[in-house]
Amino acid sequence: MSYLAVPISAETVGEAIDQIRDAVASGAELVELRTDFIEDLTCEKVVNLISHVKGEYGKLFPVIVTCRDVAQGGAINYPVKMRIDILVGALNAGADFIDFEYKNFIIPDNQEKIKVALADSVKGRLILSHHDFDDTFENIAGLYRKILTFYPPAIPKLIYTADHINDCFDGLDLLYNTSEQCVAFAMGEAGMISRVLARKLGSVVTFASLSEAEATAPGQITIKEFKNIYRSDSIDCDTELYGIIADPVGHSMSPAIHNAGFADADFNKLYLPLLVEGDYEDFEEFMDNVLRRSWLGFKGFSVTIPHKENALEYVKDKGGQIEPLAEKIGAVNTIVVGPDGKLFGYNTDYAGAIEAIAEKIGGRGELDNMDVAVVGAGGVSRAIVAGLVDAGAKVKIYNRTVRKAKKLAKQFGCECAPLNKVGEINAKLLINCTSVGMSPESDNSPVPVEVHREGMVVFDTVYNPLETLLLRHAKTCGAETIDGLEMFVNQAMMQFELFTGTQGNRRFMRETVLDLLEK
Ligand code: NAP
Repeated sequence: MSYLAVPISAETVGEAIDQIRDAVASGAELVELRTDFIEDLTCEKVVNLISHVKGEYGKLFPVIVTCRDVAQGGAINYPVKMRIDILVGALNAGADFIDFEYKNFIIPDNQEKIKVALADSVKGRLILSHHDFDDTFENIAGLYRKILTFYPPAIPKLIYTADHINDCFDGLDLLYNTSEQCVAFAMGEAGMISRVLARKLGSVVTFASLSEAEATAPGQITIKEFKNIYRSDSIDCDTELYGIIADPVGHSMSPAIHNAGFADADFNKLYLPLLVEGDYEDFEEFMDNVLRRSWLGFKGFSVTIPHKENALEYVKDKGGQIEPLAEKIGAVNTIVVGPDGKLFGYNTDYAGAIEAIAEKIGGRGELDNMDVAVVGAGGVSRAIVAGLVDAGAKVKIYNRTVRKAKKLAKQFGCECAPLNKVGEINAKLLINCTSVGMSPESDNSPVPVEVHREGMVVFDTVYNPLETLLLRHAKTCGAETIDGLEMFVNQAMMQFELFTGTQGNRRFMRETVLDLLEK
């Protein structure tokens, strides 16, 4: 059993009761009373809080009581003797777990009272915790053994700071390799996946905050996100994993759309944001780390900025198979891990865009010989130009940096022009592949309003806002429009099919993204 715990970090008993109520209502399976936050702390206050939890939410609702040392992340620096009395009082009042700092427990004067209270308690367990707020532990497995050798009934809790996602694997390995009960994960944004995967790997607890403002440690996600996006209720040791590799990754909508699809299909699968900072070496190290640990169960990846080229190189390096057009585009945005570990690289960006266009113009065949103006010469433009040329379209690329437009045009046999010539556009289909018009600069359009004509189709790959100024102008002039959400949803649906072999619930997944965009 791995509990999803919410730390209660109130300054008064009244506030703590409110926080406990909100935590339970949000789905907390355990509350951790961080009594070091309570002002003018007394044993009576803690006993009252435990009685409140047990009375209100049932005797079996578990409680951890902590009164942490400031050096180990505590809020108010209460003297150690008083903190021990609080923990002993908590055990006597029925706390299921008390959490004491390992560094303080090894001091002989600090042990006796706690050991006696533990012996008298029917179910109370001692968590011996050690935190590193700056770094990883040099030898987490050694530290774990040291704690258990010192006091075998303890539950070791080892929490460290990840500077990079690759630092998460120490904690994950510890959880996987230990048969005794244990708590381990990494703090910091880079450690986020270790908090979620702690649940899969049987960490006694993993923590989520009530809200971002009430987080008690860096990188803590909210209980709402944990339950609604990261599917905490269905994570178990068999859960298969997927994720989006990106930097930054925080605002990606891919976890929401894919997890919504998995939940709808009742798949035991979870999709995570995978913040992989750095260059090819870091990407390679991350991929090697996850693929070497087959017990983690990673089966597929979405890949975006800045790793699409790295993904292509990695799959090739490992002897995997690349979809021919992805190879030509020079970018892979989807990696699938086959049953025998063989890797397959795809690009669903171009296919997602072409499908969105085909839907509007009456089929892919209509693109044959069609005049198309593409504005932009970056990654998305490259994928869409490849798809358009493959479908037989006559493409002209307009870009601010002419050198880039020339290079792209040469590679795919198209024409090109500087961006200041967009006024001349006389194409049937116009596609914006620049970031111009994207929130917060949504008052901009990459082309002047005069370019739009009746009968034209205008496609904006920007999806935030959904209706860009470009699309508003196009509609006013009687042109047909395609928004960026269609491409985003199409490429995600294609990834979903590559990941699962089945089609996702498009309407539900699209609505999930729309809800997010509206927020
Ligand atoms: P990228 O590789 O960085 O390329 C950016 C492009 O925008 C370049 O052509 C750049 O011109 C141009 N640009 C940027 N700022 C400009 C400005 N102020 N004036 C004129 N041109 C400007 O980015 P990308 O990966 O291709 O992504 C481009 C856009 O596609 C994103 O902003 C996003 O909104 C959209 N997108 C949509 C989806 C979807 O599924 N719908 C998916 C991914 C991305 P220079 O070459 O001159 O710098």
